[in-house]
Amino acid sequence: MGLTIGIDVGGTKIAAGVVGPDGTIGARAVRDTPANSVDDTAASQIAAHEVEAVGIGAAGFVSSDRSTVLFAPNLAWRDEPLGTRVAKVLKIPVVVENDANAAAWGEFAFGAAKDVEDMVCITVGTGIGGGVVNDGELLRGANGVAAELGHMRVVPGGHLCGCGARGCWEQYASGRALVREGRARAESGSLLAAQMLSVCGITDPAELTGPMITQAAAAGDPCAVELLEDLGHWLGEGLASIATLFDPTMIVIGGGVSAAKHLLMKSAQVAFERNLPAKANRPHPTFGVAELGNDAGLIGAADLARRPAPAPEKTR
Ligand SMILES: [Zn+2]
Repeated sequence: MGLTIGIDVGGTKIAAGVVGPDGTIGARAVRDTPANSVDDTAASQIAAHEVEAVGIGAAGFVSSDRSTVLFAPNLAWRDEPLGTRVAKVLKIPVVVENDANAAAWGEFAFGAAKDVEDMVCITVGTGIGGGVVNDGELLRGANGVAAELGHMRVVPGGHLCGCGARGCWEQYASGRALVREGRARAESGSLLAAQMLSVCGITDPAELTGPMITQAAAAGDPCAVELLEDLGHWLGEGLASIATLFDPTMIVIGGGVSAAKHLLMKSAQVAFERNLPAKANRPHPTFGVAELGNDAGLIGAADLARRPAPAPEKTR
């Protein structure tokens, strides 16, 4: 198969690109209005290139036949037959995949994990996105909603999560957690936290953002460094459980924390080594930094569009 289109449907914009079999992106298009303009965005690209299939990555639960968005919290989609609808308009095959799965596939096929068959990809942004590739296949589960790694419980009765449960991993190891802890320290009257605010150029703790903290940490601010180390610690704790479940060759970490990634990766690895069960008696995965940046989901979705649908369920 030649060119395919990858589309990454985010909360506030849609990014599309024409992708070759080697994962390189040719033409690109970005639209501001989400949800309703997916067919439009793809159609404008198809008109200009010989495209054979479309892959769409969307945040939410996607059915195991890769055609329907069961639930997308940010897009108000409920049982939305996205793939079927877009395929009807464009008259070429369309597959839909969860955005974090698509990003994991991008890193697996063309990025940091291109030389391994078993990997876990964690995207640390506002929340935590996760994808698992096992023996060269994306793990989807019985209903297509597997590998929601950010909602793995790490603290029973802990912080309330947007998913309705308490103590999810993304409440402790994401950008949102970083900001919550940074503000809490500043509000506690800590002198080190006051110094961090001044490094960030603000006086009100409510103005503190994740990128401010990662930049301050990268510049060596002691409070920001501690916050990043705490985040890395939580990341490593969760990854130890994830490695226990999936036994990956490689764990790839990506997302918006890249300004301070070495700090984060170091403390994540220390906590991981400390908490991995039977650590002296098993091979440990290597840690890698994501290589495709914001394009991982788009490239991964485009490549998944080349691959046949999962085998039908067995008949009894
Ligand atoms: Zn949750």
